Amino acid sequence: MHIYTHPEFIHHEVAAGHPERPERLSHLMAHLEREGIAADCPLREPTDLTDAQILAAHTPEYLRFLQRSEPTEGIVPLDPDTWMGERSLGAARLAASAVCSGVDDVLKTAINRVFCAVRPPGHHAEVGSAMGFCLLNSVAIAALHALEHPDIERVAIVDFDVHHGNGTVDICKDRAEIMVCSSFQHPYYPNRLDNLEQANIVNTPLEAGCDGNDFRRAISTSWLPALEQHQPDLVLVSAGFDAHQADPLAAINLTEDDFGWVTQQIVDVATQFSQGRVVSTLEGGYDLDALARSVSAHLQVLM
Ligand SMILES: [Zn+2]
Repeated sequence: MHIYTHPEFIHHEVAAGHPERPERLSHLMAHLEREGIAADCPLREPTDLTDAQILAAHTPEYLRFLQRSEPTEGIVPLDPDTWMGERSLGAARLAASAVCSGVDDVLKTAINRVFCAVRPPGHHAEVGSAMGFCLLNSVAIAALHALEHPDIERVAIVDFDVHHGNGTVDICKDRAEIMVCSSFQHPYYPNRLDNLEQANIVNTPLEAGCDGNDFRRAISTSWLPALEQHQPDLVLVSAGFDAHQADPLAAINLTEDDFGWVTQQIVDVATQFSQGRVVSTLEGGYDLDALARSVSAHLQVLM
């Protein structure tokens, strides 16, 4: 297994007191080192990706908007939650590049598992807009990158972040070869694109206050039969850990064990259909300790 990360991810600045802060990543990486996980998995650094890779998922107008919005110093808000500093677009490009590089690794080498420890997250970024802490939709960019490979006809994106992956749905909804499965607290932010009824979009709403048993039942009855039908050649994961019971942003009561369980279901699907190929990327998770322990549970199963 490879873990992708990059020093620039720490330099994506946000407003004081913002939950999606640089410490999420520094705390996580220190935890993985203490646990010996970083020693077992080579750490890799992505290099930049091309504009063409971004433009497969986003409009040229939106990329120009991001480039124009980038401040020369300080930070600017793109919406009430989403901030941009002078190094933010560079970080977002590297985050998307990490997931694309992970796809290349699992398709072209003997490695079949990759985790990308990145920020900013990506799954709320729509075709033409930044939202919810996200600038570029890394997982959607990587899914479209994967489909350029001749061996890849169908991709699954599974998203267990507590917030609906509206951006991923927006970008992928008209691509039948990409299945998007998203579980999310409902009703809750972002309240967009979460009731589409089409075969490649699997929305799994969860009631506030629900626990791991409810979550496991929902995943087992909605995601797993759909993924068996889709038979993906590659599985991408939007791995958000803000459904943890300790997370300050939401009200779902999962534990590290539940994240381990859902990872095992994903690995089982990948083993059955995708030659074990799983590329996972960090989305949310805002309690530093719960995030570190949950990622650790996710990686132990991936490894
Ligand atoms: Zn989230």
